[in-house]
Amino acid sequence: MMKRQCEFCTECRMETEYRLEPKVIHKVIKDKDYEFTITAAICSECGSEVDVRGLIDKNSKEVDHQYRVAEGIISIEDISLLLKLYNIGKTPLSIALGFGEVTVQRYLDGQIPSKEYSDIMTNALASPTFFKNKLRENKEKITPAAYKKAWEAADKLERAFTVSSKLLRVITYIFEKLDEVTPLSLQKLLYFTQGFFLALYGKALFEEDCEAWVHGPVYAPIYRLFKDFTYNPIDDVRFSILFASKEVLTEEEKKVLDVITQTFGIYGAKVLEYITHNEDPWKQARIGYTTDEYSHEILTKESIQSYYQEVSKKYNLKSVEDVKQYIQDVIG
Ligand SMILES: [Zn+2]
Repeated sequence: MMKRQCEFCTECRMETEYRLEPKVIHKVIKDKDYEFTITAAICSECGSEVDVRGLIDKNSKEVDHQYRVAEGIISIEDISLLLKLYNIGKTPLSIALGFGEVTVQRYLDGQIPSKEYSDIMTNALASPTFFKNKLRENKEKITPAAYKKAWEAADKLERAFTVSSKLLRVITYIFEKLDEVTPLSLQKLLYFTQGFFLALYGKALFEEDCEAWVHGPVYAPIYRLFKDFTYNPIDDVRFSILFASKEVLTEEEKKVLDVITQTFGIYGAKVLEYITHNEDPWKQARIGYTTDEYSHEILTKESIQSYYQEVSKKYNLKSVEDVKQYIQDVIG
C-alpha cells in the first residue's frame, strides 16, 4: 500500500494529502532560455501547490542536472569518478589537467565548469591515454608520489582498453551476477562461457583466444588486467563503472552467462581448474608439456567448439540442471 503523504496546505489552512506531479519551468541562464521539468507537490483538496521538505533541494539538483545535459557539461559524479579512476587527489588532478589548484574542488562543490574545461575532464574520463598525456605535461608541478600513483592507475586502465568491448562486457556481467570472483575463477568462467556459446550457437561470443597455462585455460590480457588481486576476489569498482554500459549483450549471450554463473559460478577456482584439466581442449594443448611447464599454446576455438558440441549431444547444456549434471559427472 502506498504511504499517505500529507503536508500543511496554506490555502486549506490544514494538513492535507498531496500528490507529486511533473512541472515545466522556464529559466534564463547566461541570457539563454531553458526549459526544465521539476516536481511539484499538489494539494489533493484544493489543487494548489504545497511546500514539501526536501523537494526544493531535489528540484535544484534536477535543474542543475538538466542544464548540464543540455549544455553537454560533465556531471559532478563523473568528476568524482575521475579521482577514483586515476587514484589521484583533487589538487593534483586540478594541476594535472592544467586547471587552477582549487578548480576541481569548486566543481565538486557544485560550480558548473566551462565547456572547455568540461571537455578536458570528459576526455580524461574516456581515455587513459589522454589523461597520461596531460599528466606528463604537468609532471613537474605535482609530487612524485602522486604522479606515480596516478600514472600506474592510468596505465592499468589503458590495458583494459586493449581488450575487446564484448569481452569487457562479459566480465562486467559476471561481476554483476557473482559476489566473489577471483582472477583464477574468472578465467575459467570466461572459458566455459565461450565454450558453451560456441557449442550452442556455432560462433564465438568474444574474439580473444585462451592459452593452455599450468592452471588451465587463461586469457592473457585478462590475466594482466587483474593479476594484482592474486588469489583474492576482484574488487575493482572502476571496472564496472567504466564498462557496464559500453555494449549491450544479446539475449542469447545473457542466457549462456546466466547458466554458467548459476552452475560453474558456485564453485571455487580449484574445482573449476580440476574440470578444465579433465576436458580435451586443455589436455590436447598441453601435450608435450610437463605438469609445471610454462606454455603459450592456444586452445583453438575449433577444439573448444567441437569438444562442447560433443558434450551438448549428451547433456544438452541449455538449462542449469543439464549443466549441473555434466559438472557432477566430471568431478565425480
Ligand atoms: Zn489545499
